[in-house]
Amino acid sequence: MANAKCESCRFFDEHKVNGAMAAADEGLCRFNPPVSQPEPKSPGLWPVVGAADWCGHYTPEMSAAE
Ligand code: SF4
Repeated sequence: MANAKCESCRFFDEHKVNGAMAAADEGLCRFNPPVSQPEPKSPGLWPVVGAADWCGHYTPEMSAAE
């Protein structure tokens, strides 16, 4: 898909670890609810995606012109 990148998708979010930014080229995908609980009492995990990656759910951020 031309120009589709997670970093410009409305579902891409900052990935923070203990309050600090994780790798600049990574983010969280919030398209779906969290998944893959490591243990029953652990919170679910948001998928970590690469900024330059993309998937079929790609939706551009709304721009001021839209
Ligand atoms: S994985 Fe898909 S839905 Fe999630 S941020 Fe990337 S393009 Fe958007």
